[in-house]
Amino acid sequence: TAVFDSDAIRADFPILSREIHGKPLVYLDSAASAQKPHQVMDALMSAYTDTYSNVHRGLHFLSEASTDAYEAVRQKVAGFIGAPSPDEIVLTSGATMALNMIAHSWALPRLQAGDEILISIAEHHANIVPWQMVAERTGAVLRAFPMDEDGSFSMQAMTEMTSEKTRIISISHVSNVLGTVYPLAEIAKLAKSVDALFVVDGCQGVVHMPVDVTALGCDFYVFSAHKLYGPNGVGVLWGRSEILADMPPFMGGGDMIDRVTIEKSTYAAPPHRFEAGTPAIAEVIALGAAVDYVESIGMAAIRAHEQDVLSYAHQRLSAVEGLNIIGTAVGKSGVVSFTMDCAHPHDISTIIDRDGVAIRAGHHCAQPLMDYLDVSSTARASVGVYTTKSEFDALATSLEKVVRIFS
Ligand code: PMP
Repeated sequence: TAVFDSDAIRADFPILSREIHGKPLVYLDSAASAQKPHQVMDALMSAYTDTYSNVHRGLHFLSEASTDAYEAVRQKVAGFIGAPSPDEIVLTSGATMALNMIAHSWALPRLQAGDEILISIAEHHANIVPWQMVAERTGAVLRAFPMDEDGSFSMQAMTEMTSEKTRIISISHVSNVLGTVYPLAEIAKLAKSVDALFVVDGCQGVVHMPVDVTALGCDFYVFSAHKLYGPNGVGVLWGRSEILADMPPFMGGGDMIDRVTIEKSTYAAPPHRFEAGTPAIAEVIALGAAVDYVESIGMAAIRAHEQDVLSYAHQRLSAVEGLNIIGTAVGKSGVVSFTMDCAHPHDISTIIDRDGVAIRAGHHCAQPLMDYLDVSSTARASVGVYTTKSEFDALATSLEKVVRIFS
C-alpha cells in the first residue's frame, strides 16, 4: 500500500493554496461541503468541452459518448459501495432528493395509520422532514430514540422503541454533529427482526470510510456527491433491486418511460424509472472522477489519516479554556462539535474567520438534537482527506484568541 502523501493530496486541491483575509485558508468545513480536486474539475470541464450532449436520446457520436460516460458512473459507484448491480444505482440531485424519493415512492403508498417510522434524535432535517410529510398523510407515527449522554449510540434505547409496528428505520451512517458511527450491521438485524425497511443516510459515512452495502445489510443507502469531493447537484440512491422493482416513480417525464399514450404510460425498469428528465450529465461524470480520486488513495487509508487527525483535534481542542466538546463516542468520525463558555458559536466562527479559519456554526440542520442537548447551536470543525494536524493547531490558536477577547 502506498504512503499517505498529505502534501501531494493538498496540491490536488487548488483552493487550499489561496489566502483568506491575508492568511492561509484553514478549511475545516468539509462536512458541509468538501473542496474539489483538479481531477474532478478537469472531468467536469472535459465533459462540457469534449463530449457534451444529452444522454439516452440520440444516435449521434456525442450522444453515445455522453451516454457511455454517464452510464459508466453507475458501474463505478456500484463498485465503490459494494452494490451487486449498477442497475441498483439511481442518480439523483442529492441525498435530500434520494430520501424524499424513498419517502414518497416506498413509504407513502404502503404506510397506514399506527405504523411507525423510527429515526434517531440526531438525524439531519433531510432524514426527518420527509418522514413527517409521510406520517401526516398516512397517519403513521414518527418516533426518535435518544442518544447517550456522550453522544454514543445506544442499542438498548433503540431496541426499546422498536416493535412490530416499526415499518421503517432510517438512520444516518455517521452523525453530522456528534460524529457517532452507527453500528449499521447490528441495526440491520434489528430491522430485519421486525421486518422493517432499513434506510441509511450515508452523507457523512461514505466520505470517511469504506462502505459495503451488501455487508451492512441495509435496504437503501444514499449520499451526496458534493461531500465526496464531487460536484453539487448530484447524489446517489442505492436500493436493493427487488425493492426498486416494486416502487412507483417519484417524478414523471422523459427518459423514465417504456411507452406513452394519452391514456396511459408504462415505465422503464429501474434505475431509469427514477431519473425523469435530463440529468446533471457533466456533474455525474465528475462524480465518477471523484470516486476514482478517493479510490486512488484508498478509503481505508483516508479513514486512518482522518482518524489520526481527528484524535489530535480532540486533544488540541480539549486544552482550550472553557471549550466543551460535544460528542465523544468511541470510534467517532469526521467532525468535532463544541461550544465555548465565553462566546456564542456565531461569534467564534466570525472571529476565527479573520484568521482564515472556516468552521460551521449553527444548528447543522439538526434542531431536534440541539433541543435534546439543550444548546441553541454548536461550532463544528470537520475533516477531509486534505486536513492536517497543523490546521487544528491554527484553529486552537485562533480559539485562544477568542478566549482572550471575551474574558
Ligand atoms: N444528511 C446528512 C447527515 C448530512 O450531513 C447532509 C448534508 N449536510 C444531508 C443529509 C443533506 O445533504 P444534501 O443537502 O446534500 O442533500
